[in-house]
Amino acid sequence: MTDAASSTAIIIGAGHAGGELAIALRNEGWEGRILLLGEEAHLPYHRPPLSKAYLAGSVEKSSLSIRPQAAYDKANVEFRGGVRVTAIDRQNKTLQLADGQHLAYDKLAIATGGRARPLAVPRAADAELCANFHYLRTLDDVERIREQMSAGKRLTIVGGGYIGLEVAASAIAQGLQVTVLEALPRVLQRVTAAELSAYYERKHREAGVDIRTHVQVADLEVTGAAVSAVLCADGTRLETDLVVVGIGLLANTELAAEAGLDIDNGILVDEHARTSDPHIFAAGDCTNHPNALLGRRLRLESVPNALEQSRVAAAGMAGKDKRYASVPWFWSDQYELKLKMVGLAEGFERLVLRGDPQSDSFSAFYLKDGKVLAADTVNRPQDFIAAKRLVAEGIVVTVEQLADDSKPLKELLPAPTA
Ligand SMILES: Cc1cc2nc3c(=O)[nH]c(=O)nc-3n(C[C@H](O)[C@H](O)[C@H](O)COP(=O)(O)OP(=O)(O)OC[C@H]3O[C@@H](n4cnc5c(N)ncnc54)[C@H](O)[C@@H]3O)c2cc1C
Repeated sequence: MTDAASSTAIIIGAGHAGGELAIALRNEGWEGRILLLGEEAHLPYHRPPLSKAYLAGSVEKSSLSIRPQAAYDKANVEFRGGVRVTAIDRQNKTLQLADGQHLAYDKLAIATGGRARPLAVPRAADAELCANFHYLRTLDDVERIREQMSAGKRLTIVGGGYIGLEVAASAIAQGLQVTVLEALPRVLQRVTAAELSAYYERKHREAGVDIRTHVQVADLEVTGAAVSAVLCADGTRLETDLVVVGIGLLANTELAAEAGLDIDNGILVDEHARTSDPHIFAAGDCTNHPNALLGRRLRLESVPNALEQSRVAAAGMAGKDKRYASVPWFWSDQYELKLKMVGLAEGFERLVLRGDPQSDSFSAFYLKDGKVLAADTVNRPQDFIAAKRLVAEGIVVTVEQLADDSKPLKELLPAPTA
């Protein structure tokens, strides 16, 4: 047996990044053993539908798996679900599992993602024991939420970010009475311009969702074994049958930190997805990586990032030289609205609208120095494709060109070089 064939690669975390990394590693020519360890019992599955189509009941559970078991068998990837890694011993290149077992690795990848940020109120711990109080990160979380979603129930959603708003759209369609509580002055404030927030607030209100901004949740009222009301800092007491909290994510970096890897808002990796230990790579929501386009580091929470970065990590583990240099993008489905975003809008000087928000088909471009930093497109797949290139290639455009909806955006793109 050659060295290469007897080497073991272990991937911790079987989410979007971990699953992709395992398959990509085999495709990159890794000859040895590949072990994919996941704390959840499930094969890697699509998380985005958890707050969208799956919560709405419009897709089957079987459609959530990213790949069938046969695909892992074919790639000779050993998937082990229900396995929690509790420590990494870098000196001896071994992992400790929660059941006391030890596993040796030659190369390791950390793809531990993140967990829902807990609500910091006095009675949160009591509420977390109640069957009607939920966070939404995993398939098991959404199964519990779905069991309780029935028409007429009062659902309170804490957090007016993407997950909160997607849950609102799915729930109102099923006849629940939905209230969204957002602490900031507008929904989606951290990720989009005021115009887009106003548009989404209007769409939700038209659908019957009670959107309340500037509302700080101060505590929860627990009666018996259920959360009976949400208590707001302004004194409002909101009776409720069901609570879903969507207030962000905490990256799962503890394992890496305890092993002495460099951490700073995520596991620090280089453009090859390599950590501060040359034998350990990391990918997905848990990483903080350099982005050449933006000229700085960032931690992203998106499927495209998890997939693309894990392919780079796989190449590095197989001894190849691939660099991660992608433009961030993301999507969100609410009602019949397909929002796709590219780039990061921070520091923009001007917002240009293309198309009319009243028509539910429009785009918003965030400009700085004549270049598009970012774009949000609503029901405009062609604009999105063009916007990706405008952002990635730093193409200089004018406000008039972007706003002129009579000419396709692709006319602004230089012909690809042969
Ligand atoms: C409801 C919801 C909707 C979303 N919608 C979108 C969307 O529309 N578009 C988009 O781009 N992104 C969306 N996202 C974000 C997207 O799902 C994440 O960016 C993506 O899942 C990140 O993949 P990951 O592999 O890094 O992490 P994860 O998918 O979180 O996977 C990490 C895995 O590691 C496991 N793990 C952690 N610690 C250990 C350990 N010690 N031992 C073993 N296993 C461990 C976890 O159990 C988990 O299964 C959504 C997320 C949620 C929750």
